[in-house]
Amino acid sequence: MAKHQFQTEIGQLLKLMTHSLYSNKEIFIRELVSNSSDALDKFNYLSLTDEKFKNDNWSGKIFIKLDEADGTLTIGDNGVGMNEADLMDHLGTIAKSGTKAFMENLTGDAKKDSNLIGQFGVGFYSVFMVAEQVDVISKKAGEEQAYMFSTDGSGEYEVKPVTKEEHGTIVYIKLKDEEKEFLSKWKTQEVVKKYSNHIAYPIMLNYSEDETTGEGDDAVTKSVNKSEQINAATALWTLSKSELKAEDYNEFYKTISHGDAEPLTYLHNKVEGSQEFTTLFYIPKTAPMDMYRADYTPGVKLYVKRVFITDDDKELLPPYLRFIKGVIDSEDLPLNVSRELLQENRILANIKQNSVKKILGAIKKLEGEDAETFTAQYNKVIKEGIYTDQMNKEILLDIVKYKSSIEEGLVSFEDYISRGDSEKKEIYYITGEDENVLRNSPLLEAYKKANIEVLIMDDKEVDSIVSPMIGIYKEWSLKDITTVDAPDSKTEEEKEEISKEFKSLTDKIKEVLGEEVKEVKTSTRLTSSPSCVLKDSSDPMAGMAEMFAQMGQEMPEIPLILEINPEHEMIKKLDGLSDESLFADISWILLDSAKLSEGLEPKDKGAFAQRVASLATKAI
Ligand code: ADP
Ligand code: MG
Repeated sequence: MAKHQFQTEIGQLLKLMTHSLYSNKEIFIRELVSNSSDALDKFNYLSLTDEKFKNDNWSGKIFIKLDEADGTLTIGDNGVGMNEADLMDHLGTIAKSGTKAFMENLTGDAKKDSNLIGQFGVGFYSVFMVAEQVDVISKKAGEEQAYMFSTDGSGEYEVKPVTKEEHGTIVYIKLKDEEKEFLSKWKTQEVVKKYSNHIAYPIMLNYSEDETTGEGDDAVTKSVNKSEQINAATALWTLSKSELKAEDYNEFYKTISHGDAEPLTYLHNKVEGSQEFTTLFYIPKTAPMDMYRADYTPGVKLYVKRVFITDDDKELLPPYLRFIKGVIDSEDLPLNVSRELLQENRILANIKQNSVKKILGAIKKLEGEDAETFTAQYNKVIKEGIYTDQMNKEILLDIVKYKSSIEEGLVSFEDYISRGDSEKKEIYYITGEDENVLRNSPLLEAYKKANIEVLIMDDKEVDSIVSPMIGIYKEWSLKDITTVDAPDSKTEEEKEEISKEFKSLTDKIKEVLGEEVKEVKTSTRLTSSPSCVLKDSSDPMAGMAEMFAQMGQEMPEIPLILEINPEHEMIKKLDGLSDESLFADISWILLDSAKLSEGLEPKDKGAFAQRVASLATKAI
């Protein structure tokens, strides 16, 4: 008999299951039933597409058996089964990064954490919350030999050959003494109803009950074995909308989301005509934990005529909608559609297009608190969509929200244009990493003074790439305030005049700063600050930042333009200062403090600090 060590990560996971995650233990039933259902889906598919597995007598079933005398609960199926290697690979090792992600996302709140188990592809191990010993007997469809995988969950497992008639898997769970409540028919029934009612296969509960026949002295009590189906066993999405209530949809959501939260919203559509398909999509209230991981688990399952095809296709919806959970069931795709060719399949492309429209439509319709929840969870992926989904850009722009210079909270482009200058039709924005820095940017001063709203876009790394390519929203053009002239009342001639008046000063500052700035000029966009810096929008690199970011490279440095405020006391005094070294210090401070205001760093921080200290000393 071969003994094996669990992979280290699983060892840790098992410890966690047995010692820390003690609330919500009942979910092990949901997880094992879900595994059985997956195994039945796989065999069902084989039996319909592969001659070798054709079996007209087969009908998929899950059974749960309660044995009080033995203290065991058994969950079994006649699904695809596992051979020796499968048992070791799937139950003894974890190929997916699931465990790691799970561990990383633990909050310390046992109830929350145990709810996460199913989301990370580690559901099987939840059984160790209640088990003293687990024996998995399995026979893989099409193979002769069955195997048993046994463990007490403490670090080692064994695998040995056994005999078993039919293909499929049976999990024997010897319950810990304090977990015997799961031997009660009512408890099991309740848990199955709660999480697994809409598993598409019948779940049969086998139990024994004492029955008394006769009366008085003739009464005989016998233990009788009974069996009853305890779930609805319907593929919910195949029922008509009019038959279904919100409760039904929410119940099904629990099954597919491996959790007990309710969805933010759902949409169920049957499309008929030249192509027929049904979709049922859910938007979760909280974004999936792995939404920003490259190896995220896709949330949509593909069925063909109710036969499960895949739950591992990331292209059923565009990647930015990866938070959607649900089902696509097509009547027209061939059952044996090659998974590799799914991407190029026109039927599927059409379903995808239709689904995206429906989903975005539903999102746009969200109101009040729901809309707020959506934005809080998914605003960033919507921006991803703006960047990647040209076809739906318009509606995505209706959905996305930003911070604003004139009010708290988030505003939409629609909000902006409803109060903007409808002659000029311009939407102003500023991007950066830090909200505070942006709000206090000297570049905003002129807009504040002129009472013009500016969108504050502080989504690190996203806005600076996405926003420049938005271009137009409903005839309004988007303008990055760091690249356009500020609003002011001065005419071109007046500006020219001022610029001439201060020419010797700006030239002299440029001489001091040398290559650090491309140009020094007088500004009309400042009120209270003495200076500001702008990126040179005429630089050929300016428009390419986006491309660099896409290639995962650092953005190129764009030359800076220093603008000084001719109305500021400091500038007025500087123009005429004869102390050369003081003039140089102040020139550098004008540049470095303007950089700091935009969240940029002075080139030489030490020198900057020294200059400030030296000036402060003089001032005292
Ligand atoms: P997940 O179901 O997310 O893959 P689990 O930890 O629940 O993660 O299960 C691990 C793997 O073990 C499954 O992917 C499957 O390959 C295998 N497995 C578990 N239970 C069964 C079963 N009843 N029949 C066949 N395979 C199973
Ligand atoms: Mg599972």
